[in-house]
Amino acid sequence: MTHTGPKHVKLQEELEKFLNVKHVELFANGHLAMELALNIFDFPKGSEVITTPFTFGSTTQAILRNGLVPVFCDIREDDFTMDAEKIEALITDKTVAILPVHVYGNMCDVKRIDEIAKKHNLKVIYDGAHAFDEKLDGVDSSNFGDFTMFSFHATKVFNTVEGGCLTFNSDEYKQKLIGLRQFGQIVHTDAVPYIGTNAKMTEVHAAMGLCNLRHLDEYLARRKAVIDTYRARLSGVPGIKLSVVQENVRSNYAYFPIVVEEKDTSVTREAVEKALMDIGVFTRRYFYPLTSDFECCADLPKADVPYAKYVSERVLALPCYSDLDVKDVERICDKILEVVKK
Ligand SMILES: *Cc1c(COP(=O)(O)O)cnc(C)c1O
Repeated sequence: MTHTGPKHVKLQEELEKFLNVKHVELFANGHLAMELALNIFDFPKGSEVITTPFTFGSTTQAILRNGLVPVFCDIREDDFTMDAEKIEALITDKTVAILPVHVYGNMCDVKRIDEIAKKHNLKVIYDGAHAFDEKLDGVDSSNFGDFTMFSFHATKVFNTVEGGCLTFNSDEYKQKLIGLRQFGQIVHTDAVPYIGTNAKMTEVHAAMGLCNLRHLDEYLARRKAVIDTYRARLSGVPGIKLSVVQENVRSNYAYFPIVVEEKDTSVTREAVEKALMDIGVFTRRYFYPLTSDFECCADLPKADVPYAKYVSERVLALPCYSDLDVKDVERICDKILEVVKK
């Protein structure tokens, strides 16, 4: 089979079960999946999509590539997700959709966001690249909004090396989505009603996913041990702010960010970054810069996102992966404590 072969079909079916959602469609990567989720609605060019600038560039690029305008909403101080209470003030007669991002293993306030979307008749597409296998009060993150996108890039909690999917519960999207993924064609016919692209997942990537899915529970348990150690050592340390633990969310322990707040200690993110680099530990300024500060967004109205800016200028994502030895986590914490207590 050259496309949608047996491995593709099997991974799709396994994911529908695993994520407890009616439909999963696989893609070459998460970004194209998100572009096509926006594309499917044929929004008029220049329509506005309310989103967060505190994300990976892909989110904002997917909006721009569809000829739509990102309107940036600030984030919450406690969990760094888009602040649902600030959405309504940004709605205009051009607003068509909301594109929030679940970040670091924290979930957005999906109930409030879906409620606002219903009230104003807006579509909701969640960027769930960080939220694979998370649950809110037992409901899988795949079940909110019109679509959720998951990325299966090599750096994510579940990966197919490169890949991604959309999850959704409505039957009406399926045929068009498959068409957009495959040259605009209705599969197994000669009909080409859509302007599509090539965003198919290959059999090799699907096979990789089938292997990795079997080990996911074990990977998550190891990530949890890493994060529990970080939290035990770094909670309550002056100058280091941690994300809250969302009590009703079963996290996937995807990332461990710290926000270095110089107001208590005069220690900066750059100082922590350098001290760790000196002992061979690589951290990431993730997310920095804000996507609203990208050159390609220079012509947009200036974003009023003070808290996103504050976090982005101080955040450092510490190493967090399933093969990371807890002894190394201790060593990283020792170094951080040495720097901030100096
Ligand atoms: C990884 C990521 C993407 C893009 O996914 P790809 O599969 O790499 O295309 C989009 N949004 C966020 C928040 C991500 O972390």
